[in-house]
Amino acid sequence: MKYLRRLLRFLIFGIPNKKIETKIAYISPSKKLDGKKVLVTGGNKGIGLAIAKKFSQEGANVVVTGRSDYDLNQVHPHISYLRYDVTDICKMKDLFDKAGELLGGEVDVLVNNAGISLHEDDILSVSEESYDRQLSTNLKGAYFMSKNFIQRCMQKNLKSANILFVTSERGTFVDDLPYGLTKAALNSLVQGLAYRFVDKGIRVNAVAPGITATELVGFSEKDNLYHDNQMNNRIYLPAEIGEVACFLVSDASNCMTGQIIVCNEGKSINSYYSKLNNTL
Ligand code: NDP
Repeated sequence: MKYLRRLLRFLIFGIPNKKIETKIAYISPSKKLDGKKVLVTGGNKGIGLAIAKKFSQEGANVVVTGRSDYDLNQVHPHISYLRYDVTDICKMKDLFDKAGELLGGEVDVLVNNAGISLHEDDILSVSEESYDRQLSTNLKGAYFMSKNFIQRCMQKNLKSANILFVTSERGTFVDDLPYGLTKAALNSLVQGLAYRFVDKGIRVNAVAPGITATELVGFSEKDNLYHDNQMNNRIYLPAEIGEVACFLVSDASNCMTGQIIVCNEGKSINSYYSKLNNTL
């Protein structure tokens, strides 16, 4: 596994020739999510797990899902888990019922995090099968999770609820196909749902991470996180994304909906001069 990860990293990013230190500033835990009942898809590792841990520290009751029993069994003792594949649309009702039982009440925060990238890099190397896999996990799965969640919130008359999407900086660029396409579509969905359901007490926001140290990109948190083609030359840590996610589902951001918070230190700002190729 370790060697596969290294190979993947080498193929995508090459070999770094410098080292970088990363320090995270944590917002002090103050039970900001006390009483919230959270379901995180793909929460058995990577960014989803970091979000689940942060939410749990902040007083939320959390259930995570994933397909791998091995990873689900490693999840933190205070976090419950259910085996579930987000492409299994017809079992979604069952998933929400079971999550509600584990949480002691209806889910009121949904985190649509589960996602895959097959790193094709170019439209000419994308097969129909790889296109379908990415679209059905990243987009169709999150779309129907959201639909089911919203219907349940309305049936149960929940006064306030949150959906948080984990999209990607790739949704703001045009050259990572079809992965970036799934994330751009999710960004549009975030705004569409936010606008449609604001008067039902349902807020919908997104974190859009830059390159973050997880299996998806072949990095572990213990690796050298130096990277040439990044603002400030660093790859982010899952816990950094967890901090931003926490604010977005907490009551501290009640005045926000439909927002896509890009976590890449401004890399996707469209500037004529570039910090990345030293023209600024
Ligand atoms: P990981 O590979 O570490 O985690 C992916 C998670 O998604 C796992 O929990 C995996 O669990 C789950 N998952 C994948 N497919 C399915 C499925 N069909 N049904 C249910 N769960 C599934 O990657 P990350 O933590 O990096 O990815 C999390 C999210 O963050 C993704 O949406 C990704 O696109 C996004 N992201 C990641 C970035 C990065 O650089 N790492 C940058 C920008 C966005 P299992 O395998 O057990 O099913």
